[in-house]
Amino acid sequence: MKRAVYPGSFDPMTFGHLDIIRRASEIFDVLIVAVLNNKGKCPLFSVEERVNILREATKDLPNVYVDSFSGLLINYAAENNLHVAVRGLRAISDFEYELQIAQTNRKLSNGKLDTIFLTTSLEYAYLSSSSVKEIASFNGDISQCVPEFVADLIHEKYKNKEQGNE
Ligand code: ADP
Repeated sequence: MKRAVYPGSFDPMTFGHLDIIRRASEIFDVLIVAVLNNKGKCPLFSVEERVNILREATKDLPNVYVDSFSGLLINYAAENNLHVAVRGLRAISDFEYELQIAQTNRKLSNGKLDTIFLTTSLEYAYLSSSSVKEIASFNGDISQCVPEFVADLIHEKYKNKEQGNE
């Protein structure tokens, strides 16, 4: 059984992430989407909210499971007997950063965790979680970036922020 982990912040999940999830789920028997609980960042959505969004968005994909983790990916992978990480590549800028992480993970795991890259579908090459947040913070249209229910949740977050509720 070929299993892989797709780790990331997913704050918020976009159509770019969903595209990688769909394609990876066709390559592997089981795909675990693992939301990183990164205490260094100040996320828009809590880990629980991000996990719930991903679960809802992938409910039609029976071999996709959503989980969360803290700390190093290599430890999460070892604990769950996972040996392949999936990451998406959009541009050369992604490549430099991703190459370093992939090599570090391979080294730190003594060769037990390898990384496989899927290149972005062209229609999503421009998409990033940070640009979605930037657009939404000015109440812009993000309907081409994220599913409708996610767009509603993002707009709600910014509305609450404006009203000083968060
Ligand atoms: P990070 O994990 O670096 O905080 P993200 O959660 O935004 O970043 O992304 C997780 C993974 O999804 C990364 O491998 C990233 O390159 C990939 N990714 C993000 N946006 C896209 C996109 N539009 N197309 C393809 N891959 C993407």
